[in-house]
Amino acid sequence: MATDGILDIEYDLDAVRHSWDQEPLSARPTGSHWRYRELLPLDPTAIRHDWAVGWTPLICAERLAADLGLKSLVFKDDGRNPSASFKDRASSVGVVHARSHGAEVVACASTGNAATSLAGHAAVAGVPCVIFVPDSAPRPKLAQLLTYSATVLSVQGTYDDAWQLCQDACAEFGWYNRNCAVNPVLMEGKATGGLEIADQTQILFGDVPDWVVVSVGDGCSVAGVCKGLLHMRALGVIRRIPRVLGVQAAGIEPIRYAYEHGMLPSATDGSTVADSINVPVPRNWKKAIRYMRDCNGCFISVSDNQILAAMRLAGQHGIFAEPAAAAALAGLVWAVNDEVVSRNESALVLITGSGLKDTESALRAAGSHRLHQIEPDLENVRRAIHNTQPAHS
Ligand SMILES: *Cc1c(COP(=O)(O)O)cnc(C)c1O
Repeated sequence: MATDGILDIEYDLDAVRHSWDQEPLSARPTGSHWRYRELLPLDPTAIRHDWAVGWTPLICAERLAADLGLKSLVFKDDGRNPSASFKDRASSVGVVHARSHGAEVVACASTGNAATSLAGHAAVAGVPCVIFVPDSAPRPKLAQLLTYSATVLSVQGTYDDAWQLCQDACAEFGWYNRNCAVNPVLMEGKATGGLEIADQTQILFGDVPDWVVVSVGDGCSVAGVCKGLLHMRALGVIRRIPRVLGVQAAGIEPIRYAYEHGMLPSATDGSTVADSINVPVPRNWKKAIRYMRDCNGCFISVSDNQILAAMRLAGQHGIFAEPAAAAALAGLVWAVNDEVVSRNESALVLITGSGLKDTESALRAAGSHRLHQIEPDLENVRRAIHNTQPAHS
């Protein structure tokens, strides 16, 4: 299998413009990403508007912005999607597409969120779902898969083994393949993340932020976000393109490498707590770097300690993020310290998955210094409170 990537879907933007003139975004219901239906490769009549994917909240973190010296900092919490990750944007589009093509089974190989979101949407649609997972997925993701009643094939081997087996099975049995690396429809769902960032920041603040920060595994999410932003400028919704900061895990940063060198590294052998961005062999790197160039983007990488610290930091501001999601905040903190992002600039951090996805890592990040086992009397309450340091802001 070639690793160069897949086709990119293009739209007739004049037709989109015309349609948006007829029925402006401002006149459409909010609450889901289906408001951008003209920029999805779907038959509009096949869309299930009751699937409330997207339109996730923006949360202004004023205290954190002040601490970091930024003009403003906003989280966009995609952990609040139906299956608790950004992947719902892609899977919802995939399942609508699969159904309108008469697919009887949908399948994918995934370290977690692509699979859980596919299983969830397949369950809503009543389509059987087969998932190939490497035997290392965090338990909460496995619990979601089984509860959504997917058939789960836990493959004894690496992610690459699971991925190839899914390819072969889809070819053999005629199943709909949700893998972003072979199915160009999926990234279009992810592009709604960029459409929404432009749309919502324009409505709330009258302008886009200077930076949009996204964690990067295979590179589809960040490419999608860039594509959405570029479309919104082409369609005149926003006047400028934010710079995009792509964040990889230290030791597993092939796309960062390719952005600098024009090709993938010969080997990647790191490990990371952020399972959702643990992609040593990205299959969409060309698309990712092309879109990043168009958004004047840059890449950085962060260590596990920085990621765990960012999980804690996000939590102190009301955001519960899984490690791969917190990696984006870790990257922003690093980029501010390193003066890649200047103080007095504004930033939006995309939270791609909920902390409930990986409670083991959350417990590890938070530590137990705020957990007190006490006898049931007031004196012990007093002592525990007295010994507790206030949370630093
Ligand atoms: C999939 C995922 C990413 C990265 O997306 P890619 O398309 O693989 O780059 C980041 N965070 C979370 C939580 C994810 O599930």
